[in-house]
Amino acid sequence: MMALFHLDSWVKENKLDQLEFARQKQAYCYFSAAATLFSPEMSEARMSWAKNSILTTVVDDFFDFGGSREELESLISLVEKWDGTWKEESCSEQVKIIFSALFNTINEHGIRASALQQRSITHHLVEIWLTLMKSMMKEAEWTLNKEVPSLDEYMLNGYVSFALGPIILPALYFVGPQLPEYVVNHPEYQNLLKLVSTCGRLLNDIQGFQREGKEGKLNSVSLRILRSHGSASEEEVKKEMQRAIDGSRTELLRLVLQQDGSVVPRPCKDLFWKMCRILHVFYMKTDGFTSPKEMLGAVNSVIHEPLKVSHI
Ligand SMILES: [Mg+2]
Repeated sequence: MMALFHLDSWVKENKLDQLEFARQKQAYCYFSAAATLFSPEMSEARMSWAKNSILTTVVDDFFDFGGSREELESLISLVEKWDGTWKEESCSEQVKIIFSALFNTINEHGIRASALQQRSITHHLVEIWLTLMKSMMKEAEWTLNKEVPSLDEYMLNGYVSFALGPIILPALYFVGPQLPEYVVNHPEYQNLLKLVSTCGRLLNDIQGFQREGKEGKLNSVSLRILRSHGSASEEEVKKEMQRAIDGSRTELLRLVLQQDGSVVPRPCKDLFWKMCRILHVFYMKTDGFTSPKEMLGAVNSVIHEPLKVSHI
């Protein structure tokens, strides 16, 4: 509970509670972190996970509806520049609040991670965020320009915009093992993220189809129906997506358990798998992230059930 209190004051210090468009999800973000990284020596990884979850929620809402095109562009250009002169830039109060929170948090985590890893990490943390924002910008442009991407284009971008990058990847630096640059650039590392993110994106789209349809947003359910020229039903499309989710999940578990030729340390790989389990619990019945009632029971079950390989 002390940690949750700390998180609340961090939100206030960074004025994130003043952003009217943003969902306030501190408790869920913290519990998802606590469920995943429960041991005492994981406290830094847990805080990184929780703070970055809150920031990705804010940034997601900003790109989805909170910010104008100009604001989104100016936020991205501040992240690209990444220097202390940002306070002099002319940009909206919302952009200033979001950038300042990112700037402080990334630098703080960067300093700690660099000390633990004995090499400079901050640039990688910035790059993770930039990649996310560019994928969210692409989606915003599709909506603003009323463009319809192909399903492949959508998915290639959509697994990134699901925003697990800034939640999982920075936390890996605090788990314990050294993660040299060649590991971070290795296809295995990229694949772990892609597989868990694909599960998340598809689960989110299955559950969010009705809501997002009302908001005029395309997702992989509507794109699959479109691609079939209307011959596939919503139900058939969702079954097809469920098979894709099961495939990604099985492949993810295979990578996590694989020993021969694996370069990502097992304790780090476990984070991807735990995130995958959390996603399945969150999205089991509804879009758990936006319907609070379902979540509390789910969080409890994640905290109390140990990792069981036989469950897939
Ligand atoms: Mg979004």
